Amino acid sequence: MPQDPYSVLGVPRDATADQIKSAYRKLARQYHPDVNPGNPEAEEKFKEVSTAYAVLSDPDKRARFDQFGLTEDQPSGNPGDYFGGGGFADIFGMMEEMFAGGGRTSRRSSGRDGEDHRVEVTVNLEELLTPSEKGLTYKRMAGCSTCHGSGAAPGTSPTSCGACGGTGVVTRMQQTILGSIRTTSTCGVCQGTGKTIAEPCPTCKGRGLEVVTEKLSVTIPSGVEDGTALRVPGKGSDGVGGGRPGDLYVVVHVPEDPRFERHGRDLVTTYKATFAQAVIGDTVQIQGLSGPIDTSLEPGTQPGSHIRLRGEGLPRVNGTSRGDLIVICEISVPTKVTEAEAQLLRQFAEMRGEPMPQGVGSQGFLGGLFGKKKK
Ligand SMILES: [Zn+2]
Ligand SMILES: [Zn+2]
Repeated sequence: MPQDPYSVLGVPRDATADQIKSAYRKLARQYHPDVNPGNPEAEEKFKEVSTAYAVLSDPDKRARFDQFGLTEDQPSGNPGDYFGGGGFADIFGMMEEMFAGGGRTSRRSSGRDGEDHRVEVTVNLEELLTPSEKGLTYKRMAGCSTCHGSGAAPGTSPTSCGACGGTGVVTRMQQTILGSIRTTSTCGVCQGTGKTIAEPCPTCKGRGLEVVTEKLSVTIPSGVEDGTALRVPGKGSDGVGGGRPGDLYVVVHVPEDPRFERHGRDLVTTYKATFAQAVIGDTVQIQGLSGPIDTSLEPGTQPGSHIRLRGEGLPRVNGTSRGDLIVICEISVPTKVTEAEAQLLRQFAEMRGEPMPQGVGSQGFLGGLFGKKKK
């Protein structure tokens, strides 16, 4: 957004150079990044203040702003990019470019790239055993079907942008404390497409893109973790003016399963054995991911002990060999027994020489003797 440098510095239109300088000094001290470390708002404000001062401290730029509301380097007819005027903001932008690496500059050189998109897909644990196909439906921007992506009304065609000579980028010589430095930035007139459109396409309003509903089938690899993002190159929105299409990121959501806890490739489940089963041992059926599994409960199984069922867990990502299913044994204790059952348990205790349980409340020993059972 273009900002009025006078209001940024809080000075009247007829402010003297000294007034401007002192207003700038006061604000610069207040918002300086050294005084406000890690405060992006202050940093933004500091840039605004510096840019405003760069305009108002230069008599030529100030006069030009007063007359046209523009700064000198701006292409006429496009007041959108106020910061293009060559103030401090450009130095910050230039620094960002210098440290951002070469990728950004090369991406800029032709047209505007399409946006990336993100869709979420839910798969359950069973679907992780083998690669699974998932159908997706999502919206993206695709080349307009009326103008075939040119953005120009049918029968007309875009012309090369005069401001950047059709390259989509503008190069400036910048005088900085480091000397004279050449900077490039996206052309503000054509937004980097290198083309200008006299008569915009009525369907896409000259954007060259329209919203389409895309259907796509993706393969979810076996064994992926919840939150994994799969990149489908080129399936984001289309670029314009030769820009590259964006990518589609398919984020795999694996919801929690009440039956299993996931520990990497291993799954953990619980099995509730009866007291008698745990004591004597038994063949029991465990619910595995690919169906019921028969396994033996050893005599004398203790609560909290583990049974490891090899190869009944999940595969590695893209793999086939599976981890294990770990069964934690719980022993269920009956919450209510009949008098006859209680009698057997007392006999059992007696035979083993264990203390004789006396019971409590209505289930107590005396209560039992006098038949005061609650049913
Ligand atoms: Zn169109
Ligand atoms: Zn241009």
